[in-house]
Amino acid sequence: MSLDQISLWMEQVGDQVVSRPALESELDLDVAIIGAGYTGLWTAYHLKRQQPDLNIAIFEARHVGFGASGRNGGWLIGELAGQDQLLAGLPQEEQRRYRELIHAIPDDAAEVFKREGIDCGYRKGGMLMCAARFPEQENWVREELRGFYARGYSAEDYRWLDADELAQQVNIAGSKGALYSPHCATIHPAKLALGLAQAVERLGVTIYESSPVDEWQPHRLKVRGHKVKARVVAPCIEGYAASLPPLSRYQIPVQSLQIATEPLSETLWDELGMADGQAISEASRMVTYFHRSRDDRLVFGARGGYRFGGRLREDFSLSNTEFNRHRGLMLSLFPQLESVKITHGWGGNLGLSRRFLPHVYWDLHQGLALAGGYGGEGVGASFLCGRTLAELILGVENDATRAPWVLRGEGLSSSLRSWEPEPFRWLGYSAVLAALGHEDAVLANENSPRWRRRMASALADRFEGLMAASPTP
Ligand SMILES: Cc1cc2nc3c(=O)[nH]c(=O)nc-3n(C[C@H](O)[C@H](O)[C@H](O)COP(=O)(O)OP(=O)(O)OC[C@H]3O[C@@H](n4cnc5c(N)ncnc54)[C@H](O)[C@@H]3O)c2cc1C
Repeated sequence: MSLDQISLWMEQVGDQVVSRPALESELDLDVAIIGAGYTGLWTAYHLKRQQPDLNIAIFEARHVGFGASGRNGGWLIGELAGQDQLLAGLPQEEQRRYRELIHAIPDDAAEVFKREGIDCGYRKGGMLMCAARFPEQENWVREELRGFYARGYSAEDYRWLDADELAQQVNIAGSKGALYSPHCATIHPAKLALGLAQAVERLGVTIYESSPVDEWQPHRLKVRGHKVKARVVAPCIEGYAASLPPLSRYQIPVQSLQIATEPLSETLWDELGMADGQAISEASRMVTYFHRSRDDRLVFGARGGYRFGGRLREDFSLSNTEFNRHRGLMLSLFPQLESVKITHGWGGNLGLSRRFLPHVYWDLHQGLALAGGYGGEGVGASFLCGRTLAELILGVENDATRAPWVLRGEGLSSSLRSWEPEPFRWLGYSAVLAALGHEDAVLANENSPRWRRRMASALADRFEGLMAASPTP
């Protein structure tokens, strides 16, 4: 697959891509990492920084940046998906410490970028989240904010920007306001993956490309027919868990799809805003996300589909339906882009755990370390989880290794919740997607009567709730 078929980002770094040799012999290692995305690379980085004499190799089925790490929307967020659910029940003081640990992710990562000379276009312009366009959206976003404050966040973390304040940063058609949080930066995803791979290699880690792991068990892998022994095995494959049973039981691949415009003129950007690389989303439950790239494109993403049986999608050339849906969503926010060219469309697989929460798993006796389930917020999460995996492997005890998202060695099946068998997963996912799309359409139609708007939102709530709550068979 050529780089332009992977993503705009991989196409743009084409001249910096080096191909690395495949594994050709047996190996005996301290740590064998599976997958050269951010999780695997950050784990290797922090391991080597803290213990330089470790013998570590990374086995990558394709090449650095092939997975979600070379395809994402570039939001480096100081948040974990569902963090408040994870922190609920802890004493207030502990919650505050964990929130600080999570919010520090962008700054901590930036320090590494500086130290290692990773030029990935880092800009900390904050997040404008859940821009509301309809009264119902404004109500639930304000409700969300009240919830944040009730759980101990301050206006330093999240605050409401009214329509005028929001318009100073981004000009979204009909928008009534949004939540602002400073805890987010944007980056060039592929430059980060490539730069980090080079940093890891400078520290003495070997990355084998075109080297899929075919079989794995504690302390042993088979890679292209070659035996690899390792004290610790670390599968870091998030959205690709389907390639390594039994991990496929615990993480399913769902897609997120993006389009990018041609570089836009200064005049258009004066109208649209987004001058500081802000990461922006609107309150639609189709999970739209966008930002202005360093080369002046609007890069716009939204939720994609799920394939029956958890089959991985390989070909991400967008179908006409996918392309038109994304373009339609983009134009509903920015009608002035009607005549601009969309030059790129792509997507990728991300990992969804059954609890919809991220996890770090460590089993000292089996020598098994893994992380994932980032639920579409993995750019920042992989930094924290990779560092935590390294610390767990090295036996460090600290707040991060004791965090509520760290599950310690009770066996995968008792630590991670399994997904339902088919056809329930597919039916559930498809029903949720249909209900969310229906809600968007009803709210966007100003002629929809109040009862219909209420019913559409109640239905969307109900389906999302059912999916989150349904018991594991
Ligand atoms: C389109 C899209 C947009 C996104 N946008 C954002 C965003 O803006 N912000 C955010 O925080 N998150 C975002 N995410 C999620 C984020 O990109 C991922 O959570 C994160 O990159 C996961 O990193 P990873 O290293 O765990 O997995 P990956 O980057 O997917 O890497 C896994 C690697 O494992 C390799 N592999 C798979 N099977 C095997 C095997 N058997 N043997 C060897 N190697 C194997 C794959 O080839 C791949 O390179 C997005 C995801 C997608 C798809």
